[in-house]
Amino acid sequence: MMHHSSSPYSTLQSQRGLTLNAATSTHVPSRRRAAVRVQAGSKEHVPVAISGAGIAGLATAVALHKQGVPVVVLERAPALRQEGSAVALWSNAWRALDALGVSEQLRHDYQLLQRVDLVRADGKMLRSFTLDECDAASAAAGGVNETRGVSRGHLLEALAAQLPDGAVQFSSDVKGISSGADGRTLLQLSGGQQLSCNVLVGADGANSAAAKHLGLPQANYAGYVGYRGLAKFDGPLPVASDTIRQIYGAGVRAGMYPLTSKDLYWFICFNADEAAPAPADPAGCVAEALGQVGGWSWGIREAVAATDPASISRARIRDRWTRGSFGQGCVTLVGDAAHPMTPNLGQGGCTALEDAVVLGRQLAPLMKASSSSSSSSSSSSSGFDAAAVAEVLRQCEAERAARCLPLTVRSWAFGAALQLPFPPVLAARDFVMEKLFSPSHFLDHTLYDCGRLPA
Ligand SMILES: Cc1cc2nc3c(=O)[nH]c(=O)nc-3n(C[C@H](O)[C@H](O)[C@H](O)COP(=O)(O)OP(=O)(O)OC[C@H]3O[C@@H](n4cnc5c(N)ncnc54)[C@H](O)[C@@H]3O)c2cc1C
Repeated sequence: MMHHSSSPYSTLQSQRGLTLNAATSTHVPSRRRAAVRVQAGSKEHVPVAISGAGIAGLATAVALHKQGVPVVVLERAPALRQEGSAVALWSNAWRALDALGVSEQLRHDYQLLQRVDLVRADGKMLRSFTLDECDAASAAAGGVNETRGVSRGHLLEALAAQLPDGAVQFSSDVKGISSGADGRTLLQLSGGQQLSCNVLVGADGANSAAAKHLGLPQANYAGYVGYRGLAKFDGPLPVASDTIRQIYGAGVRAGMYPLTSKDLYWFICFNADEAAPAPADPAGCVAEALGQVGGWSWGIREAVAATDPASISRARIRDRWTRGSFGQGCVTLVGDAAHPMTPNLGQGGCTALEDAVVLGRQLAPLMKASSSSSSSSSSSSSGFDAAAVAEVLRQCEAERAARCLPLTVRSWAFGAALQLPFPPVLAARDFVMEKLFSPSHFLDHTLYDCGRLPA
């Protein structure tokens, strides 16, 4: 079933007929090869299956595919998901995108952000600093700060465009995961299909079925809900196009990240009971979001009003403090499935990209060795060294947990402090931001370099 023929360059949009509302279009050339197609009623075997075509799953697929490892990505949604509107990508993410070969067009299309304004909802400017001021360590290391907000749909599209036709299989919900007698992992897909794989990479998000299969606990609710949207303006943005604005109220925060001179990503986080029901429709979401920032200035209300209500997403914010090696056998996790974190440092997507490069670099040589020592077709796993792969996966997980756990804890602490609604705490928060806060080491966590993939 696996063919290794090259085909002409083309864009993902034309390959898959997707209708993505990216801020701009991307044309990323890719060397394409046909992938395994999982037919209804069939039981196929693939070397590596990845569950979830979010940032983590697609990036991991790209990292492996670039090194000649065939992958199948199983996505439950019928198309690349648009939910979540945009992500802020910091320097560590751009290094990962460089390694994956998808940074160039995104860099061209999205604005470099250079300033941060910390403001109070009632109109007071607490602190304004440039991202260069955060560069104490970065400058010493010869690094340059790079921060851009990027449309999530556009990022997913750019990653998927690197993959061969059919590598991402939509409407493929992984319903069941079990261990086969021969060391393979068996996946039960919606529609009755079955797939067996040597390696399963769970990239299925914070509510991961793969994490559940591994016995990891559910991610914990952090006590607040986040709305996100992508506003489109015909005229000028309500914030300078190179400036991140964070707005602080009492138990409510908002932020705005310009993507381009016309597009602006915004979020609103507010304290809420976990059981509080979400509004039933987009109009209800707009009303709830606006209700949280009633009377606020600084352009956040204009941003909500300039957003297509149907595209606004609402998420209960969760995290899990994942430690050590979290996988078993030849099953591992990446992205939110591995280390769901609160969005307060804007690092969930960035670390998902890092995961992909680190895992891809370490796993690919073993997968290539197994396919070259395998005597027959790619569906044979006779040359597959499960023990060696499991050892590498555990090393990788330990490395990634050591990187992500401190970020997860710090992000949680940041959010917990900033969501407190009590007046003495708010006064202390304002005093710290205005008088004590020094940005010089604020972005030290973005100095992390996940390294390159072999050419
Ligand atoms: C309010 C908010 C703001 C954020 N801001 C930022 C930011 O500025 N910067 C940043 O870097 N990060 C940010 N994040 C975090 C970021 O969105 C996540 O870390 C990132 O999306 C994780 O990607 P992922 O691929 O691991 O998971 P997901 O994006 O959740 O993707 C998982 C995919 O798996 C699919 N799936 C799930 N279950 C199955 C199944 N059983 N079978 C098949 N497919 C399945 C889903 O449909 C989905 O497509 C923010 C998060 C929130 C909530």
